[in-house]
Amino acid sequence: MNMKKEVVKYAKMCFDNGLTTGTSGNVSLKKEDVIYITPSALPYNEMEESDVLEVDLKSGEITAGHRNPSSETQMHRFIYLQDQNIGAIVHTHSTFATIFACANLPIPPVHYTIADIGRGVSVAPYARYGSEKLAKNVVETLGENNGVLLANHGVVAVGATLQDAYRRSEVIEEVAHFAYGSYTLNNVKPLSNEDLDDALEGFKSYVSG
Ligand SMILES: [Zn+2]
Repeated sequence: MNMKKEVVKYAKMCFDNGLTTGTSGNVSLKKEDVIYITPSALPYNEMEESDVLEVDLKSGEITAGHRNPSSETQMHRFIYLQDQNIGAIVHTHSTFATIFACANLPIPPVHYTIADIGRGVSVAPYARYGSEKLAKNVVETLGENNGVLLANHGVVAVGATLQDAYRRSEVIEEVAHFAYGSYTLNNVKPLSNEDLDDALEGFKSYVSG
């Protein structure tokens, strides 16, 4: 697999499908001890494979690339270091997920698809963007889940592959939208843990075709 091509492809999908605007958000992929990550402050429609940076997982040093790395490189690195099973990360400021993040409210599990992320999506405490404190807060709150909100900032989704992390970013945004609607109808009905576990079991045995 061409790692840089994959990173550009999904970064552009985030933009094309409305999960990001301008230059916000970032996408990364990990292979062995190398993190492939999008650069900072480069419009998505101008991004090419040669703009993707390589960062050493252990030291955090940039080993290849001519641009500045994403401001959240440290956060990506901390997440990978914490869990070896995570191979890809998508960070966006997608609108409805970020509304919950700004309100410091977890996204309640109002739709069964959220079971793939966790029992809802929790909020990591605020710390300045790009800071080590934010990276630590995110890792701590993420725990075993596949997604987390960043207070007054945005959302992170993880997966073994970029396809997984990207799909989860979309699911979180969609469920945040549903939850927002439920709040406006003044009737939020979260699923029980039992129902969420049951849905998750269903996903595991689901074979597409
Ligand atoms: Zn951000």
